[in-house]
Amino acid sequence: MAPATRIGPAIAYRCRGETHLNLSNRCPGRCGFCLRRVHGMFFGNRDMGLGAREPNAKAVLSAIEDEGGPGKALVFSGYGEPTYRAKVLVEVGREAAHRWPGVPRRLETIGLGNRLNGRDIVPALLGSVDEVWVSLDAADPSSWLEFHDPWDAFRRRGFEDSLNFIRACVARKIPTIVTAVDLPKNDWTRVARLAQTLGADFKLRPLMA
Ligand code: SF4
Repeated sequence: MAPATRIGPAIAYRCRGETHLNLSNRCPGRCGFCLRRVHGMFFGNRDMGLGAREPNAKAVLSAIEDEGGPGKALVFSGYGEPTYRAKVLVEVGREAAHRWPGVPRRLETIGLGNRLNGRDIVPALLGSVDEVWVSLDAADPSSWLEFHDPWDAFRRRGFEDSLNFIRACVARKIPTIVTAVDLPKNDWTRVARLAQTLGADFKLRPLMA
């Protein structure tokens, strides 16, 4: 049977057997390794461009159902920074625990959620996600700026804000994984050591193309 034609931007989409959620296209960074640089607003044949039509929790849950359920995991990632939509993220994460018990829920973030929301969102993440991956990629502020190329508002304190977000997640006992993309000029061993000092785990991620 031919796959169903999907109309409109992808709010939920399959990636490696997981269902990923695209809550916002807004992002404080312009990372050199971002898939958007290579593929524009497409992931395969799925249009990831939400524009101003950011979904509410009901639409996200319905999009997960349309994908056939969460698969191996539910992942808040997308083509943008999911913590811009902290309220929706929390609502979806909590409802997902009821609808699909046992399915891991993961947040993938640049780690600026507290700065973006002007408040500590970490307490609300408890019970909403099972794991947080923070794309740190760097072990010092200048490398962080180089890899993430953030907008002006995030340049001065972005690295420290990200470290504080990691510390806050660890303090709340949310399993927290610092990630680094495997780039030739990135000495990820320094990032791994920094993760350890922060009490987080570390994961080296392959460069997606
Ligand atoms: S934080 Fe993620 S979505 Fe934003 S530019 Fe970097 S890789 Fe792309």
